[in-house]
Amino acid sequence: MTETKILSGKEVASAVYDDLSSSIDRLTSEKITPGLAAVLVGDDPASQVYVRNKRRRFENMGLLGETFRMGDDSSESDVLTLINDLNGDDRFHGILIQLPLPKGIDSDSVLRSVRPDKDVDGFHPENIGLLAAGNPRFIPCTPKGILRILQFYNIETSGKHAVIVGRSNIVGRPMALMLSAKNDTGNATVTVCHSRTPDIANYTRQADIVIAALGMPSLIKGDMISDGTVIIDVGINRVEDNSEKGYKLSGDVDYESVMDKASAITPVPGGVGPMTIAMLVENTVEAAERLIS
Ligand code: NAP
Repeated sequence: MTETKILSGKEVASAVYDDLSSSIDRLTSEKITPGLAAVLVGDDPASQVYVRNKRRRFENMGLLGETFRMGDDSSESDVLTLINDLNGDDRFHGILIQLPLPKGIDSDSVLRSVRPDKDVDGFHPENIGLLAAGNPRFIPCTPKGILRILQFYNIETSGKHAVIVGRSNIVGRPMALMLSAKNDTGNATVTVCHSRTPDIANYTRQADIVIAALGMPSLIKGDMISDGTVIIDVGINRVEDNSEKGYKLSGDVDYESVMDKASAITPVPGGVGPMTIAMLVENTVEAAERLIS
């Protein structure tokens, strides 16, 4: 039986915030407060929680974090008008569009309308292209945070086989680009699985590192991995229960059944989630720093 190391995203995030404090002090001395505008359209409960947590973190660090809320009856053109205003608003160095957007609004055209040098989520095609070309400007926060967890805990990626389950533009796809990049935090051999992959276990059993980002509670189980695998559980799923809230948060990995086999695992909550916010803060501070460099 393997002793499984818990990879605490909270701990890594705390180190990131410590490291950022000197950059923030330098910006403040130049009378620049890094600012993030978060655009929240509609009333998706999970999105409201995410945006609130992000704003709180910005406020706790003495940064500007403002949420722009729009009703779910807003048209695409209303959203584009707001983003156009934010693109020109010097208080905000970063603009975040909280996904998903309500039906009827084309996410691609909304994401394309964000000024690429304020696109701290790294979802604009220009920034995705720069990442693919190996010359990134903004790296999407969740995969960036995952690499930081691996680095913090000295988990080697070079020469390893990483199997990513999920190919979204937010997590799986940029993660694959980063892990296969020819650099110190990449050099992995990467397999990307998705809903059309027959027999996912056939791939995950061959993995040194499994990154589960599919949004299906507890789908990755112990019998799908080999001894010693490092598991990064990206999933945040609301699973109904009898608690006061009416639900509990569950990852994409069946924690109990992988515990005997995994060499290391990120918990849910407290794993990848805190790092996504930390990387958002870091990207926003970097955006503000570019102003004075
Ligand atoms: P998404 O856009 O819905 O993409 C899910 C991906 O998983 C798709 O590529 C889909 O395949 C694949 N998939 C779905 N069901 C599958 C199955 N049964 N077998 C194999 N592949 C399957 O989701 P996302 O935005 O990437 O998010 C994934 C999860 O991570 C969600 O739980 C989300 O809440 C969570 N998340 C967490 C953080 C964080 O900070 N911790 C950040 C972002 C997302 P197809 O492409 O074929 O449809």
